[in-house]
Amino acid sequence: MLSDLKINELVNKDYICSCGKTHRADIERIDLSENAIVNAVEYIVSKRPRVITVICDENTYVIAGKSFGAMLETAGIETEIHIIKGRNGLNVAPDDAHIGEVFARISGRADMYVAVGSGVVNDITRIVSHRAGKNYIVFGTAPSMDGYASVTSSLVLNNIKESIPGQCPIGIFGQPDILKNAPFEMLTAGFGDVIGKYNAIREWKFGRDLIGEHYCPEIVDLVEKAVDKCVDSAQGLKNRNEEAVISVMEALILAGMAMGLYGNTRPASGAEHHIVHYWDVDCIKRGVEHELHGNSVGIGTVVICKLFNIVKDKLPVETEAIDPDEITRILKTAGCKTSPLEAGIERDLLKRSIINGHTMSSKFTVLKYLSEENPDLLEFAAEALCKEYYN
Ligand SMILES: [Zn+2]
Ligand SMILES: [Zn+2]
Repeated sequence: MLSDLKINELVNKDYICSCGKTHRADIERIDLSENAIVNAVEYIVSKRPRVITVICDENTYVIAGKSFGAMLETAGIETEIHIIKGRNGLNVAPDDAHIGEVFARISGRADMYVAVGSGVVNDITRIVSHRAGKNYIVFGTAPSMDGYASVTSSLVLNNIKESIPGQCPIGIFGQPDILKNAPFEMLTAGFGDVIGKYNAIREWKFGRDLIGEHYCPEIVDLVEKAVDKCVDSAQGLKNRNEEAVISVMEALILAGMAMGLYGNTRPASGAEHHIVHYWDVDCIKRGVEHELHGNSVGIGTVVICKLFNIVKDKLPVETEAIDPDEITRILKTAGCKTSPLEAGIERDLLKRSIINGHTMSSKFTVLKYLSEENPDLLEFAAEALCKEYYN
């Protein structure tokens, strides 16, 4: 079984699976040890690059980017460091302005790129290195999202959030002492993104049972085991326990790899992600900051679990029962937000996201099914959820 393999045994090999497909992850090295930064430098040196470009932001430069650059220089590699800076008083974002500035400021001479950071830095470095035709590695500084192992970047181009094809890193590194000291909202974001997998897997089974969608039990088992281990770490995460933080980071990398192994995002995202994308797009259009992805996904998971409870008896197939109160309890144990109100989502936006969330993806989800087959029930459920949260 895929899930019998350890995380660093899954890399760089073909796996002929019982589902009929051959799965492959194009990552060479995963290292979450206490010497990860030293090992990352050694790994880079083994590739014999002449010039390296390190991309980080102002925070991750201080945390690891600066020392990473110094270690590479000591190893005899010419190193340029680009620090991505926020604009107009807002945080750094994976948008056209920031990406354009990176392209304009780097020399373009690098044989290899290094991302030092998490979501935004990794998404931008993935695109920049891929378009330059070079490999990249990521040194993760926060267990905040499942995009480390991804082949696509979630970018905001011309005010629209899109998933843009790139490449996965050839190496993923992270050091427990750095990861556990990430801002708390980044720890909870990673946890929320992992919790979303409960619904993602349920909806994959829903697609299998209702429309005969291809399904891989081994990848599901891999993701479920990682999620369960992460859930067991909820209390530890709140206390920044090293082992708990590493469990979350591993689950995030595994979820990302599961998407790479399967060839699309089916194993790790469903309707809980689509309503969140709808919220994000709405915030981007209005020019206001939104919650970190995973913090919204945790909330979105509770919303979709409540929705399933409202509609489940009218669905043509039986679906997995996931208790929204239990999801809420797990999220709270880890210190995560659980309600749309805590994320500043207003009644009207919640309702529109439930009605229109299916437009954010072609994936078969409960929202897609209801919008096509039973829009009255979708409207009823959206209104019932709004009443529960806002009245
Ligand atoms: Zn399979
Ligand atoms: Zn996600």
